[in-house]
Amino acid sequence: MKLCDLFGQGRTVFSCEVFPPKKTAPADSIYKTLDGLKDIRPDFISVTFGAGGSQVNQTTHDIAAMIENEYHIPSMAHLTCVAADREDVERLLAELEADGVENVLALRGDVSPDHPPKTDFRYASELVRYIRTNSRFGVSAACYPEGHIESPDLVSDVRHLKEKVDAGAQHLVSQLFFDNEDFFRFLERARIAGINVPIEAGIMPVLSKSSIQRMVSMCGASMPRKLTRILAKYGDHPEALREAGIAYAIDQISDLIAGGVDGIHLYTMNNPDVARQIAASVDSIRKV
Ligand code: FAD
Repeated sequence: MKLCDLFGQGRTVFSCEVFPPKKTAPADSIYKTLDGLKDIRPDFISVTFGAGGSQVNQTTHDIAAMIENEYHIPSMAHLTCVAADREDVERLLAELEADGVENVLALRGDVSPDHPPKTDFRYASELVRYIRTNSRFGVSAACYPEGHIESPDLVSDVRHLKEKVDAGAQHLVSQLFFDNEDFFRFLERARIAGINVPIEAGIMPVLSKSSIQRMVSMCGASMPRKLTRILAKYGDHPEALREAGIAYAIDQISDLIAGGVDGIHLYTMNNPDVARQIAASVDSIRKV
């Protein structure tokens, strides 16, 4: 099934993201994650690409295929092009297709100062166009409510996003953000620019002070005062921070759904218990 067909059915789409576990994690840890996520019946599960390099137990492709074929949940394989040439992309797509994966999230990936980028695809829009032209995959792409960290301004950011959609992206998933007003303002800019595909809001529950500070410094998301206060008060108390972080995510999600968001994409960080708690708390809300 193509993911864009999930939208417009009178309820908010709810999806989850997982990553390939590191080699240091138990070999069956991805099964524990997926077993836990299957109970919340997400509309689809996406699998990140490349973050662990070669130090992972299973590849993105293995896990996406497992989600489709063993869990019978639609999957979306992330695919970055910054370190890939056309042959690499063709090979990965052929492997995914052979294993029944029908959807990819086409990304550029982060440019590393140590490795010059490959040049077949300079931007995600070029990868999107290539995949749409040469295959039958459903193609999604990333978007940034506060602008991508390299963008000089929000106007050029949305202009390049429109190019990605014009190239064939059928659905967008947002970077994490903590202030819903940033997302609603972005949605308005996107719709004014003529971007009419479904846009899912990316929500990351705050569970650890250090990891959230690392994420924020990497992606440039701003921290509202409400969240800064939570980190200041509970940052050194993991149980308390976990409760406050889950409550914050639930509050964000219920407000986004009230505001008519197309979908919620939960960054689960391979923690199915947290995902389950959040999903259970918004179950009735997402069906209104
Ligand atoms: P692009 O859309 O190509 O944009 C990159 C930058 O170039 C932006 O500033 C854009 O405005 C600018 N730009 C675009 N087109 C042009 C143009 N024609 N001329 C000039 N400037 C232009 N990374 C991973 O490594 N693995 C993952 O699995 C992964 N998953 C992600 C999932 C989501 C939902 C999100 C939001 C991000 C994810 N990322 C992942 C991070 C992503 O790879 C980085 O944010 C990367 O820096 C940009 O990727 P992109 O596809 O958005 O790039």
